[in-house]
This record gives sequence, structure tokens and C-alpha cells, in this order.
Amino acid sequence: MLVDDLKSIVGPEGWTTDPGDLQPHLTEWRDIWTGKTLVMVSPASTREVASIVRECHKAGTGVVPQGGNTGLCGGAIPDQSGNQVLLSLSRMNAVRSVSPNDHSLVVDAGCTLASIQEAAQQVDRFFPLSLAAEGSCQIGGNLSTNAGGINVLRYGTARAQALGLEVVLPDGTIWDGLRSLRKDTSGYDLKQLFIGAEGTLGVITAACLRLYPSVKGLQTALVSVDSPDGAVALLADLRHRMSDQLQAFELIPDRAIRYVLRHFPSARFPLEPTSPWYVLMESINSDGNEQLEHQLLACLDAGLISDAIVAKNKGEADALWGIRHAISEAQKKEGASLKHDISVPVGTIGDFIRAADVAVTRHLPGVRVVAFGHVGDGNVHYNLSQPAGTDPASFLAQGEALASLVYEVVAGLGGSISAEHGIGQAKRAHLLQYRSATEIHLMRTIKAALDPENIMNPGKVI
Ligand SMILES: Cc1cc2nc3c(=O)[nH]c(=O)nc-3n(C[C@H](O)[C@H](O)[C@H](O)COP(=O)(O)OP(=O)(O)OC[C@H]3O[C@@H](n4cnc5c(N)ncnc54)[C@H](O)[C@@H]3O)c2cc1C
Repeated sequence: MLVDDLKSIVGPEGWTTDPGDLQPHLTEWRDIWTGKTLVMVSPASTREVASIVRECHKAGTGVVPQGGNTGLCGGAIPDQSGNQVLLSLSRMNAVRSVSPNDHSLVVDAGCTLASIQEAAQQVDRFFPLSLAAEGSCQIGGNLSTNAGGINVLRYGTARAQALGLEVVLPDGTIWDGLRSLRKDTSGYDLKQLFIGAEGTLGVITAACLRLYPSVKGLQTALVSVDSPDGAVALLADLRHRMSDQLQAFELIPDRAIRYVLRHFPSARFPLEPTSPWYVLMESINSDGNEQLEHQLLACLDAGLISDAIVAKNKGEADALWGIRHAISEAQKKEGASLKHDISVPVGTIGDFIRAADVAVTRHLPGVRVVAFGHVGDGNVHYNLSQPAGTDPASFLAQGEALASLVYEVVAGLGGSISAEHGIGQAKRAHLLQYRSATEIHLMRTIKAALDPENIMNPGKVI
């Protein structure tokens, strides 16, 4: 029987069917997606992953890979049938090797993002992928969702950090593509297929990742701007004058600040809280002088910003980032929320927010918009909180209608309905609607070629 075979592959430490143990793996952070499973297996090696997938392939049973379970679109949650196997990568969490001179490291897929940042720091190198869930999300999940985060402006997304992958294919074959080459044009770049595939084409078991020289002279500043258009103008101005030294540029609305201050009493906001919008930014300044401060004074004179503070030390910088990273948690405490993780051309962010605000407010008066995020990448987390004092269930029931309104605005601006979090279960129908027939055909052709039995994360993405 399949479950017995799987148990014997992973041994007593590597499986559970206990409802209490399974609970956090069968529901997501916002409790929106829940599922059931035959068994959760937690293999300790690539060989064990391969054996599990081979057995599931023989049995025609679906396999759902799960990393830190911080994705917010139901991608890592099995369906309600109870017939799928949940495959947790959590026990595969070793840093296999670090090569400072090659500026690379090889890690198991179950390493948390924070542990990889630390491994890089220990050899005086920098791993730039960074996001609020970095203490619990895993690199396998980051690669499978092509995660972005705060440093994409300078370093690119997870895709740009991957030099090579090791993947267990849907029939249980192990593909060892753990190369650290910077240049390689020998045939198709196969690793790219698995990055952003959300576990539908195979299980990523290890990755060779790009490291960078450690960052010297990082400066963090918080500034007030009058509008998202003002933030975009400021971004263009600073990038031009600072020779592209900006590494992060995050838009924050005053509503998000109010939420954070209300729910995290220890948080301190160092500017006058009178502006409708703020930008939190970080720049690299290897000369060690105060270049960001000088540039911001010029921006103040030019009327691009109305207030600014530059962190004097790491403690102050961390406190500013603490506010930014607390937004999602604070919004959760405000009641039910709907998230739209979209991207549009950077210059149209203001147009997007204006048009989407009109559309959602007309549909649901009182809805509270919290639009924040990675303006430097044209990526806005266009989140909606339920109208104050209303029933969460009736608000969530409006989810599809509100998403359609938001995505129509996105499509009109040539944007994407998913900039970071992926498609999962949440956006499958929208993907079919907003990608062309040719693109959907190509995606289905790739899926059928690699996974003809449809055992890898069935019901997700495509
Ligand atoms: C507070 C908060 C802030 C966030 N901020 C950001 C942000 O700034 N930028 C961003 O991009 N995302 C953000 N996210 C979303 C989330 O953290 C990312 O999508 C992250 O990359 C998911 O990693 P994970 O390990 O939790 O993956 P999971 O949620 O476990 O899985 C995500 C998908 O990947 C698949 N998968 C997981 N591991 C593997 C593997 N080894 N092989 C094959 N498939 C696999 C799963 O089946 C699923 O489809 C945030 C989430 C939270 C809760």
C-alpha cells in the first residue's frame, strides 16, 4: 500500500498523520485555504524525495510540495479529497557548501531564507533575496514562486539568484543541475522551467545560489511624498543622480502606518504622521560618506519630498524596516483582507492605484485600501481590508468580484496579475483569462511533457 511504502522510505521521524501535527501544514497564514492529506512525509535526503515521488508516480497519486507554507495563494495546500501526499522539505535544511571565491553556495531546498543570508554573512558575502517571511519561508519555495522582496530593484528576483538546481522529476528521476556557471549557453536553460513553476513540474531539492560582495555603507531613509506619482518621480530622480545605488524603494500609505502603530504599540514612527504616503529606501554607499542625506536635501529643495529622516545606525534602520515588515501582520489584525499582488510598468503605478481605488470603492463603499510595496519594481500589494465593523465572511464573498475589477485595471495598463506570490489555487481562472491562448497552450504543453500523469501539485497554476 502506498502510505506504508512511503512510511518505510522516510522512517518513523519522517511522516505524520496526526491531526494536530498536520494542522499548520493544511491551512495557510490567513486561514483562507485549507486541505486534507493521505499522509505528510518529510524526507531527509534527495534520494528519499526521489523514492517518494517514484512511488506516487506508480500509484498515480498527487504530490504537493511544501516549503515554509508562507505563500498566500493556496499553492502548498493539498485539495479537499484527502488523497494527495503532502511533501514537506523542512528536514532538508543543510548548507551543503559555501565558496566565497566563486561567490556561490549550495543549499538544500528546505533551508530558510534567513539561514542562507546568515551563511553568506559568515564568509563576508551578501545574499540579497529578502522578504518579511524570511524567517520561515524556504529557498525551495522562494525559487518555486520566483519570489521578489525588497532588493529586486538592484539584484533581481529569486530567478536571478539561481545558478543551478537539483530537481526530482515527476517520475522520480533526479536531475543534477547544480552548476555554478555564470555563462552557459549549451542548450535550453532547464532550471528556468522549475523556477516559478510552483511545484507543478518537479520538486526542487537543492540550489546553487549566487552571492555578492558584502554591502558596505548601507543607508536607510524614510521620506514623505504627496502621492504614488510623487514616489515614482522621486525614484527616477534618485536613480539618475546616484548612479543606480538604490537597492530598495518601498511605498507605504498612511493607513498602513496607522495600522502598525495601532497593533504594535512598541513601534515608533519618526516623521510627522501627516503625509498621505511615505517611501522607505535603502542605498549603497561604499565611500562611507553621507551621500543619501545630501541627495535627499536636494530632493527637499526641489519639492519632491516634504520630510525625511536618515537612520543614524543599524538599530534605527532596523526599526524603520520593522514598520514595513509589520504591515501584513497589522493588516491581518484589522480583519479579513484580500490581496492582489500585481505589477504594472513603473511609470503607471499612480494611474493604477487611482483607477483601482475608484473601481473597488464604487463596488464596495467603505472598503479600506492598503496599497504598498515594491514601487521600484512596479509591484504593488493592492490589499483590501474589510469595511470597519462589517462581517468578514460577506466581505470575503466579494473576493472574486473585487479581484476582477482590480485585474481589469492591471490588464488595461499591460500589467501582471501576479508579481510575486504566484498563481496557486487562487488565481487559476484569472491566469487563463489574462494570458494569451498561445501562452496557455505552451504552458500546458510543457506540463504534459514533464508530468503526463499530472501528479505534481495537481490543481495548481494551470
Ligand atoms: C508576511 C509575508 C510577507 C511576504 N512578502 C513577500 C515578498 O515581499 N515577496 C514575495 O515574493 N513573497 C512574499 N510573501 C509570500 C511568500 O513568502 C513567498 O511566496 C515565498 O517564496 C514562499 O516560500 P515558502 O517556502 O513559504 O513556500 P510555500 O508557501 O510552502 O510554497 C509555495 C509554492 O511553492 C511550491 N514549493 C515549495 N517548496 C517547493 C520545492 N522545494 N520544490 C517545488 N515546489 C515547491 C509549493 O507547492 C507552492 O506551490 C510574503 C508572505 C508573507 C506571509
